[in-house]
Amino acid sequence: MSLTIQDLFAHNRAWAAEMERARPGFFSGLEKQQAPKFMWIGCSDSRVPANQITGLDPGEVFVHRNVANVIVHSDLNALSAVQFAVDMLKVEDIMVVGHYRCGGVLAALQGARIGVADNWIRHIQDVRDRHRGILENIAPERRGDALVDLNVVEQVVNLSVSTVMVDAWAKGQKVRVHGWAFGVHDGLLHDLGVTVNDTEVIEPVYRKAVEGIVVKYS
Ligand SMILES: [Zn+2]
Repeated sequence: MSLTIQDLFAHNRAWAAEMERARPGFFSGLEKQQAPKFMWIGCSDSRVPANQITGLDPGEVFVHRNVANVIVHSDLNALSAVQFAVDMLKVEDIMVVGHYRCGGVLAALQGARIGVADNWIRHIQDVRDRHRGILENIAPERRGDALVDLNVVEQVVNLSVSTVMVDAWAKGQKVRVHGWAFGVHDGLLHDLGVTVNDTEVIEPVYRKAVEGIVVKYS
């Protein structure tokens, strides 16, 4: 049975009624403010919904998604979201979340042409090219997953060297950046061991995470 737009409104009314029944006043509480502790930067892929995967309610996670969870220094959309989350909401943990079987990452790996997104995916090809030596030593069927992990690690670094994070850490703000990967095949999140909580740890954390990926896929 294929869903229609009317079904979505019916689902929505049922969901809102059930939330209000189970937790009276839930929405009037949300109306006053949002105070999430977490920010999720993930892929736009429909199989990777931040709230459902982590069991978080509305109001508990601030979300930014784009194709293949890329953080580019000239992307005002992503940087604006991060700055709002860090400076205004004071989130304590930001997770950059890739996922296995990511179409954007696989296109980058194979050099496939899609359209406008080719220019966006070029950023992931830069990651592929930087780690060409590592990828060439991994069995072809596992290279896609390895590039998903490497892309997350690189995007954690891109976020960590952004002016927003550098300024927050210089002020002594307690906020951590994490790198995770999600298995669309089993529904599980994996911590890639690339947690950054200060500018000075970026380099050693990065090196250790890349070494970890080499071991994982060898
Ligand atoms: Zn994806």
